Amino acid sequence: MQDSTLLYSVRPDATVLSPDRETVVTFDREGRLVHYYRGGSTYRRDLASRLYVRERDGDGATWRPLPPQEARRLVGEAYGIARELYPGSPDPLRRRLEEEILRWTPEALEAEAARFHAAYTWPPSILPPDLYLAIVLQATTGCSWNRCAFCALYRDRPFQARSPGEFADHAAKVRELLGRQWRYRHGVFVGDGNALALSLERLEPLIGIVHRFFPGQPLYGFVDLWSGQRGDAGKWPSLARYGFKRVYVGMETGLDELLQVLDKPGSSRELVAFVHTLKEAGLSVGLIIMAGVGGKPYAERHVEATVEALAEMPLGPGDVVYVSPFIEQPGTPYPALRQRLGLTPLNATEIEEQVRLLAGQIRHLGVRVSRYDLRAFLY
Ligand code: SF4
Repeated sequence: MQDSTLLYSVRPDATVLSPDRETVVTFDREGRLVHYYRGGSTYRRDLASRLYVRERDGDGATWRPLPPQEARRLVGEAYGIARELYPGSPDPLRRRLEEEILRWTPEALEAEAARFHAAYTWPPSILPPDLYLAIVLQATTGCSWNRCAFCALYRDRPFQARSPGEFADHAAKVRELLGRQWRYRHGVFVGDGNALALSLERLEPLIGIVHRFFPGQPLYGFVDLWSGQRGDAGKWPSLARYGFKRVYVGMETGLDELLQVLDKPGSSRELVAFVHTLKEAGLSVGLIIMAGVGGKPYAERHVEATVEALAEMPLGPGDVVYVSPFIEQPGTPYPALRQRLGLTPLNATEIEEQVRLLAGQIRHLGVRVSRYDLRAFLY
């Protein structure tokens, strides 16, 4: 809608203000700042109430957290825009400003951090890129394997499964944190690393709790190959009936030798069989592969074996292969492994070339491909 020079949008999920071409401020339905674009810079506030600025990094983008003082100044500036627009604002916008937005101060918004940490003892480490706006509920925390040489996602936390009582308490706190915004999130991601490794018997009461607190939301989750295949095959059709839409599996590579080097259990043959099981159960599949892992010695064979394995899977329109540019994480065994085995790394340009090569060949199979950049994640 337009009122003289003011552009604004009173959407079901957000209120957007744009007093001029160079400025856009977005608030959620609780009135909390979500995005702020000003003079070519994009800022985002996460659920823990930290403010980040978007920066380009090669072919991807990354979010840099801002120091508290600068964050507070920018938040004040964004709410100042809302305050200035309030006198004379047209009716639907006026109501949003009064009832939702103008009740916040930068200090009150900072206090949201305490509610976030009460809801999440261990903050979500990652989500698939199409689910950045999902609701994360941690049926488990951490990863039951936690040994893949390249992975730093859950090294800060022990693997623990929540009891139904603990999970209900967690779900209630997450719902309180999100407020009325929960309806506009894109599904529920049942985390952490491999929550779907739990038996159906343990998952059923937890899924009931998800539906009680977030009715109508589709469900998603990660599962690792070895615990996925170990369980009862009847579990997957049940999960599809309970509202699970897509299950995400870290494939990493189709080259078994490289999987072993990376200390990741399983083989491409087992993964192909597991994907058949998931698809027959009526679930969509998201497979994550890494571009550049294993460095130069493995580059060609990694691409070839990965595309070969994917070609054997019954992937269709609801399935996605995510190509993730490999980033060596400090604090993981990978740097020592690289030195010991002489895994000369690909440079950033070569990794991007491998991303393009994999994406092109996978698209050629008729499968949807998406980029998965760990640095782009904010919750
Ligand atoms: S890559 Fe997946 S299975 Fe391996 S340690 Fe990380 S979360 Fe666990």
